[in-house]
Amino acid sequence: MLYQRSSALFKEAQNVIPGGVNSPVRAFKAVGGTPIFAKSAQGAYIYDEDGNRFIDYINSWGPMLLGHAFPPVVDAVIKKTKLGTSFGMPTALETEIAELAVAMVPNIDKIRFVNSGTEACMSAIRLARGYTKKDKIIKFAGCYHGHSDSFLIAAGSGAVTFGTPNSPGVTQGTAKDTLLAKYNDIENVKALIKANKNEIAAIIIEPVAGNMGCIPPTEGFLEGLRTICDSNDILLIFDEVMTGFRLANGGVQELKGINADIVCFGKVVGGGLPVGAFAARNDIMNLLAPLGPVYQAGTLSGNPLAMSAGLAMLKAIDQDKGLMNRLEEKTKYLHNGITEALNKNNIPHTINRIGSMISVHFSDQAVVDFESAAKGNNDTFKKFFHGLLNKGIYIAPSAFETWFITDALTYQDLNETIAAVEEVAKSL
Ligand SMILES: *Cc1c(COP(=O)(O)O)cnc(C)c1O
Repeated sequence: MLYQRSSALFKEAQNVIPGGVNSPVRAFKAVGGTPIFAKSAQGAYIYDEDGNRFIDYINSWGPMLLGHAFPPVVDAVIKKTKLGTSFGMPTALETEIAELAVAMVPNIDKIRFVNSGTEACMSAIRLARGYTKKDKIIKFAGCYHGHSDSFLIAAGSGAVTFGTPNSPGVTQGTAKDTLLAKYNDIENVKALIKANKNEIAAIIIEPVAGNMGCIPPTEGFLEGLRTICDSNDILLIFDEVMTGFRLANGGVQELKGINADIVCFGKVVGGGLPVGAFAARNDIMNLLAPLGPVYQAGTLSGNPLAMSAGLAMLKAIDQDKGLMNRLEEKTKYLHNGITEALNKNNIPHTINRIGSMISVHFSDQAVVDFESAAKGNNDTFKKFFHGLLNKGIYIAPSAFETWFITDALTYQDLNETIAAVEEVAKSL
């Protein structure tokens, strides 16, 4: 495959956009090579500026659960655009999508819409701090909650020490309020809470992790967090920006039958437009401005384009009773095919999968947390990535990302993908 035009566009972009991209992972730094410039997309396929076609397993990092340019979303946005794109006034549409979201997701009374997952998570911890009147939060190594200061924190030297900033620009003052725990390690969480008695406002977690590859919670882990939070006056925040409206209509709360205190959404909820949201029961949500003292706002929050896209998406999910099952079956089929192809070529690997999320790790050990995810062979991954890319299969350009399966994928697409994996595996 040729990427001449993408190369030229990347060069030009780098003059005026830092690194040529508006979000770093797009730059292919983890795998090398030139990022592909997208021109259009339809269903399961994405087309680049050189005219190449790819079967897309990124799907804009999650939103395109039903495929690119999903007609109900496109139609809704076009219709709304002609009536004005933003009013800075409330609209009936916002109530309509809020009612549907509250009906689909268990355990929430109210929801507020924002413009990104980052905003949702940032607002959720402010709300949790306002509610509990405590300052510290616990997050898990390898979980991503957007790029706000409180989350750009690395583990300190000891297991129970304060975090340290992992980006310049994040102050030590902010870092000291974020504690880092190990995913799937309840004892580690207990130790942190013990060492910071009565200081922790919230534990925030991806209840199925997707930002270190796909890592489902081990048996009893989320239940354990729920119990600890209840007995220590700590709010449990599920960051379902990736999993919400994807792993079940009601996200991981529904899938695993565990209630969070605050839930964050993004990606699918916007149907491909910039939308995030956070939600909780009344006693928590009523603390938000203008009802309560916890401030949160947004000029373009709930704008009609974003809300019409989100509403069309949620309606489609809500009305399609077979969707989640179909997605899971397709993902399972892909899983089995890839396993067979890699085994035939004696490539050590571990595949994690839940619902429509799947990740291939070039490691023969179980991948259960950030440490074990980091043990994967990155050189093998790079070859795997570029090999697949050249065969028209677009997976995430990093070993730490999940593949997102869309309902637009046909079994023929999956077979084409498996055949490509088998070819590529021969050269790994
Ligand atoms: C993508 C993501 C975010 C950040 O959302 P943005 O819309 O990129 O700001 C937060 N949390 C999780 C779990 C995510 O996957």
